[in-house]
Amino acid sequence: LPTEFKQAKPIIDTIEAAGYEAYFVGGSVRDTILGKPIHDVDIATSAFPAEVKALFKRTVDTGIEHGTVMILDHGQGYETTTFRTELGYQDFRRPDEVTFVRSLKEDLKRRDFTINALAMRANGEVIDLFDGLADMSAHVIRAVGVAEDRFHEDALRMMRAVRFASQLGFTIEPATEQAIADNAQLLTKIAVERTRVEWEKLLMGQQPVRGLQALVKTALYRYMPEMADQLPMLKKLMALPAWQLDQIESTWTLLAWLMQLPDTAAIRQLLKAWKTSNDLIDHVTAAWTVVGALQAGGTLAPMTLFKAGAPALKTANTVANLLGFGQPQAELDAAYAALPIQDKHALALKGGDLLKQQVVQPGPMMGQVLAQLLVAVVTGKVANEAGKLLEFARMVADTKSN
Ligand code: ATP
Ligand code: MG
Repeated sequence: LPTEFKQAKPIIDTIEAAGYEAYFVGGSVRDTILGKPIHDVDIATSAFPAEVKALFKRTVDTGIEHGTVMILDHGQGYETTTFRTELGYQDFRRPDEVTFVRSLKEDLKRRDFTINALAMRANGEVIDLFDGLADMSAHVIRAVGVAEDRFHEDALRMMRAVRFASQLGFTIEPATEQAIADNAQLLTKIAVERTRVEWEKLLMGQQPVRGLQALVKTALYRYMPEMADQLPMLKKLMALPAWQLDQIESTWTLLAWLMQLPDTAAIRQLLKAWKTSNDLIDHVTAAWTVVGALQAGGTLAPMTLFKAGAPALKTANTVANLLGFGQPQAELDAAYAALPIQDKHALALKGGDLLKQQVVQPGPMMGQVLAQLLVAVVTGKVANEAGKLLEFARMVADTKSN
């Protein structure tokens, strides 16, 4: 058993000693059986939330309305969820009602795939009510119950299926895959943020091509934001020599590049549609510009290095390496480190100095002069010293006002 389970065993023991059932469930059981590292330990129990809370000193109501209580123990938090069934799903995304039940089977039945519907006792014994172990050995992702119904209940499960295909390198069982093909358009009912999480996990999986193949075969991609016409991009992605990305930024930069978007405004629009953060948008647009420069070949210009910044340079080079025109990362790092300044705040002369010395009046001229100073310093034309910069600024201001 993984250490995480050993550490959590006292929690299960405590719940059981009080006369209830408790099991490890979900991804941690799946990943343990696969011998993969686990991240979050989920516990399912027959005890109702109030009963769980009565057993432990420190708990947090992280999702009490769905029956989830976090038990704090030795600096660790364990999400403990009461067995439940779900009813309704009129909106294709969440149940109208959850009901707490005392039966493990009922709880496992509502889970998405057989490999995610296994439970494990604290002693490591596996409870396999839906043939999840057989599917695990056969490397198959199969819906629990009737796939069509399950995707009607919650359309996000279709994205989860293709995501697991990528993460685990598994195949989607034919009837499950057919149900995705038949119901793909229901994905539009799902909040973009939730689809994005699965899409990013797919792209950063062990075998992304597996997930992409399923996405194309079922046409599910057509219902993802801005993706309806992106079959050519997906094909290019699938044709790249074996790749594995572990960074969201490089993933989106690669996509934007393969989409052959015309400019950074188009990237912004793409990422806005996917509701990513503004930080990610800034990073990806910067990296995308550098990918273009790397493709053009030769040494990167100082201003290209400067504008990108170290993180986006790294992202860009990772992507360029995948595409076959990267440069040794150490050389890029050295070129960046060799820039006279790495940050515009490091300029030895500030806007305030320009005003004080009456080089410029407040107004648009100020920004223009500062921009030229920056270029002059970064490109090594003028040393980053206040005196030299003042002289240069006077000259720039003169030419501009004439
Ligand atoms: P990960 O390794 O990414 O955490 P996971 O399988 O643990 O994968 P979670 O979102 O953490 O995914 O969910 C935990 C468990 O809850 C799943 O293994 C599955 O049993 C169940 N589950 C999660 N989302 C759904 C869903 N949309 N429909 C049905 N069951 C779900
Ligand atoms: Mg999980």
